[in-house]
Amino acid sequence: MNASINRQVLLVEKPAGKLGSEHFRMTNGVVPEPKDGEALLRVRYISLDAANRAWMHGATYRSAVEANTVMAGGGIAEVIASKDPSLKPGDIVFGDTGWQDYAAVPARQLSKMPKLEPMTHLLSVFGVAGLTAYFGLLDIGKPKAGETVVVSAAAGSVGSIVGQIAKIKGCRVVGIAGGKDKCGWLTSELGFDAAVDYKDGAVFKALRAAAPDGIDVYFDNVGGDILEACLPQMNNYGRIACCGAVSQYDGAPSATGPRGVPGLIVVKRLIMQGFIVMDFYRRRDQALADLQAWVKSGKLKVEEDVIEGLENTPRALIGLLAGENRGKRMIKV
Ligand code: NAP
Repeated sequence: MNASINRQVLLVEKPAGKLGSEHFRMTNGVVPEPKDGEALLRVRYISLDAANRAWMHGATYRSAVEANTVMAGGGIAEVIASKDPSLKPGDIVFGDTGWQDYAAVPARQLSKMPKLEPMTHLLSVFGVAGLTAYFGLLDIGKPKAGETVVVSAAAGSVGSIVGQIAKIKGCRVVGIAGGKDKCGWLTSELGFDAAVDYKDGAVFKALRAAAPDGIDVYFDNVGGDILEACLPQMNNYGRIACCGAVSQYDGAPSATGPRGVPGLIVVKRLIMQGFIVMDFYRRRDQALADLQAWVKSGKLKVEEDVIEGLENTPRALIGLLAGENRGKRMIKV
């Protein structure tokens, strides 16, 4: 890395259909000067998130990403200069650094992180992915021992942690993922009781076989057809934790969506609730204590997919949306 050049990945056009490498361009910018209240950061790892694609559709829980700006994205970074008393050089922080080598970011938008090794865990199990799995499953899904928990995008960063926490809580766990390899990994390595390969077709039937007693908690990462297949198989008083809808992100959202939702919710007395992980941050310390203990004891395995080089960020996101990743995908800058 040349210390006077700030390599940046720009989103040059918002995609109308599928995201492609033509929507991005690399450029050399200048290393910014931090203003009062800001810190100058050297970005170490950039998080690749399915939501990066959803931000291109418009404002969500954050503002939309715009064309001809540095692509937004969360990252772990080292403070190299600070004009805010809360941060000093050498501190490690998490924040929206964007896809670039250096960023000047207001200190109040940064979270100071502990110095732990490997640092990558700050983006995976001890970062947004782990906290999303923890709060989404335990606070929204409220699983009880002996119940059946189903999770989609199960081999991804959030899903792989959800399934393992559900096992720790004594549940029967079924993962839904794309491809035989991922499904085999869920059952042989992560301890899931069964896995359904949705790319094999006939998801409804395969799910019935994998969850013969019905579903008590469905942790929904994907929406669309898979949500439609799960709904009729929910048990009375079941809970659906709506975490995301990755099947709808890359391209125009489907006009159909799950059918028969309101009737099923009434008859089965279901609770279906969306959540955003930030809403739970005041209880982050308790979650991190549990996650750290489970990782230390070997009950929770951490899977990371680290790709080297800022220049590979666009293809890494495109690949994540196509299901290339197992566990938490990130870029080592
Ligand atoms: P991820 O699960 O690591 O990767 C995305 C996975 O989605 C891919 O590996 C792919 O796996 C699967 N996928 C892609 N297209 C699909 C389709 N059409 N149908 C079914 N599966 C598909 O990514 P992530 O960033 O951790 O995101 C997972 C979910 O969590 C997303 O919905 C995201 O928006 C959500 N999330 C929510 C919050 C919150 O606060 N609510 C916070 C973080 C993340 P396959 O090979 O299995 O297809």
